[in-house]
Amino acid sequence: MSVNKRDYYEVLGVTRSATDQDLKSAYRRLAHQHHPDKNQGNPEAEERFKEAAEAYTILSDPEQRRRYDRFGHAGVSSTAGAAWGAPGFGGIEDILGDLFGFGDVFAGAGGRATSRRAAQQRGADLRYDLEITLEQAAEGMTAQLRIPKLETCEVCRGSGAAEGTRPETCRTCEGSGQVRFQQGFFSVSRTCGSCRGTGQVINTPCQSCGGAGRVEREKQMEVKIPAGVETGSRLRLHGEGESGAFGGQPGDLYVVIHVAEHEQFERQGNNLYSAVPITFAQAALGAEIDVKTLSAEQSLKIPAGTQTGTVFRVRGQGMPVLGSRGRGDLFVSVSVVTPTILTREQRKLLEQLAKIETKDLEDKTLADKVRDIFG
Ligand SMILES: [Zn+2]
Ligand SMILES: [Zn+2]
Repeated sequence: MSVNKRDYYEVLGVTRSATDQDLKSAYRRLAHQHHPDKNQGNPEAEERFKEAAEAYTILSDPEQRRRYDRFGHAGVSSTAGAAWGAPGFGGIEDILGDLFGFGDVFAGAGGRATSRRAAQQRGADLRYDLEITLEQAAEGMTAQLRIPKLETCEVCRGSGAAEGTRPETCRTCEGSGQVRFQQGFFSVSRTCGSCRGTGQVINTPCQSCGGAGRVEREKQMEVKIPAGVETGSRLRLHGEGESGAFGGQPGDLYVVIHVAEHEQFERQGNNLYSAVPITFAQAALGAEIDVKTLSAEQSLKIPAGTQTGTVFRVRGQGMPVLGSRGRGDLFVSVSVVTPTILTREQRKLLEQLAKIETKDLEDKTLADKVRDIFG
């Protein structure tokens, strides 16, 4: 370990009883004075800057400071820290940055520009869940949405500063939004706590938004829902999400569709399914019945001898195919309904029918037996 390592209090130019505030202002002053951006090509300034950062890092942490007070440098120096004062490490940041892609961690000459950009935050994406009926999904519709969202404050135009004032450059980070700490080999940039990384502080906040630059508003908007959407369909409305902070891009709005269950139709993809009851006579003799489609009624021919569970296809009466002219089909499953209440006449007729049917079945059974024996 370097023997001539300076005392941290001496580095910051404060007494051992310095308060947190004393440390902070001392560090701020030194960082300002020796900032590498202002002292390019001056290794002495860079050394002072690093030294101050290290001293402040240690002393601003109560636990580290306690250990430093008791044990001196030995109490807080890690092995990596020991290499700190060694000469010839000027290029270490660049080497590590190149090797490990730590470019962002080290706020180099370009750090300032990078953090300015980082301070502009893209607004959040918003999700709006919209429930519609199957009919609406089939026809398409215009939905009226009321969306609570953060919009750029009109009073301060998003700056957050009161009228007639402007945000000022943060003194802690010199407007870079990042504070640099040297920790062992690593020069670590952290988001500046004083300005939360924006590089600017607002001394007189805008009354309307309290300095946030954005206000919550309910925005009304019309959204066209195309025909054929289904549950889970997402419509992305570019730039209709929340406003970005400090001039950042707005987010997007996603409208997520939920199609309510229909009491008559079940949907599978673009096809619809329904069940229709028919009488025994219709099933036996055949008939032309009216079946409901999603928008109207349509006649359907039931051939003689139709069994329960037979499915008929009604072409083109399903759901429209999203983004195309095509349509799915409607599948109608018929079931023969056994009457529960009979009129006197119906009973008489059925009893006559029953006699004949029983004989038919007996004949058929006999025929089957004969076939079994001789077949
Ligand atoms: Zn405002
Ligand atoms: Zn700052």
